[in-house]
Amino acid sequence: MINRRDLIKHLSSLPLLGGVLGENSLNPLASAATKVPVRNLAKELGIRTFINAAGTYTAMTGSLMQDEVVATIQGAAQEFMMLDEVQTKVGEKIAALTHAESAVVTAGCFSALTLGLAGVLTGMDQKKVEALPHLEGTGMKSEVIIQKGHNIGYSHALTNTGCKIVYIETVDELEKAINEKTAMMWFLNIQADSGAIKHEEWVKIAKRHGIPTMIDMAADVPPVENLWRFNDLGFDLVCVSGGKAMRGPQSAGILMGKKDLIAAARLSMPPRGSTIGRGMKVNKEEILGMYVALEKFVNMDHKKEWKMWEDRVATIEKAAKSVNGITTEVFTPELGNHTPTLKITWDMAKVNLPVKALQENLRNGNPSIEFMPAGNNALTITTWMLKAGEDKIVAARLKEEFSKAVV
Ligand SMILES: *Cc1c(COP(=O)(O)O)cnc(C)c1O
Repeated sequence: MINRRDLIKHLSSLPLLGGVLGENSLNPLASAATKVPVRNLAKELGIRTFINAAGTYTAMTGSLMQDEVVATIQGAAQEFMMLDEVQTKVGEKIAALTHAESAVVTAGCFSALTLGLAGVLTGMDQKKVEALPHLEGTGMKSEVIIQKGHNIGYSHALTNTGCKIVYIETVDELEKAINEKTAMMWFLNIQADSGAIKHEEWVKIAKRHGIPTMIDMAADVPPVENLWRFNDLGFDLVCVSGGKAMRGPQSAGILMGKKDLIAAARLSMPPRGSTIGRGMKVNKEEILGMYVALEKFVNMDHKKEWKMWEDRVATIEKAAKSVNGITTEVFTPELGNHTPTLKITWDMAKVNLPVKALQENLRNGNPSIEFMPAGNNALTITTWMLKAGEDKIVAARLKEEFSKAVV
């Protein structure tokens, strides 16, 4: 009988079959790792796991990584690599997939915002890198312009560099706000409809004044085309979350854009210390996992995926609607979390169930289920984070709870 070592020797001499077992099969650490029994830490520590019918929320740990991503992480954990080399090689691949000149994997979209702006401020000046977030007396610029409607909590990522935010509403105000201290003009895609100035005009005005632009599109895939749309539009820096719809590691994101700006941003990133970004480390496992998640996302059948989400929504909608007093509506947000979303509303005179009570009941049930409340007598559900078959469980549990509350 052929033993394992012979088999490997044999296979690796054949170029075509060499890849079947992969490099890791030759690594004693790798084979040892596969023999380690998998502990169920959720059970051991009493951590609640649940069916996620809510969506890609940070507090709910974002999304579940695809098998390919988990396998990548496991494989990468078996070898040492130089952190910068991993970033450079992965960055080239990501840039090619997204029509960007260059890219780097960051600790989520939030750190992409901070590090991208850091790169804009410092350029390749090491002294400036080490001075951040203290801008005074360094010659660095200190203001970022944002439309008032684009101001949500995430702009804190920008002030982390020491910059101050200047809010404007009209083109006229924008033109007046631009001065020698203006470092960057920031655009938030999810709030694009809450500002008078749209993408193209924002970029055009910035270019006329020679000011770099950045767009936060953290939660704006799908559509997949957004991964290159904003690079094509001329934004100098584009920031996206890796652990939302792309199902990469939750703590990963991507900063992409102009080559010189990405190179400058990397001066504030690990392994370099004495930087504002030293605490925003991304390990090799996550960098490689992010790349594999992105590649898979770009190449997947999005139409099929969408149809699956719709079918699941239909299953839940049908069950809910069968209870007297329940009305439903399906809509797709244009900006951010672009996925079929089911809104269920009930007449409290017919179904006496405050949303908080329903939330508690589903949360404490077995299996536990999470949705998003939308007022005292309404909720929303998305199905993109469900595992196969969970739509039926959600449908049955909702129907059960609604039926019990019928007056
Ligand atoms: C989620 C989100 C972020 C933060 O992204 P992380 O990947 O969690 O760091 C930033 N901006 C917007 C608009 C978001 O939705």
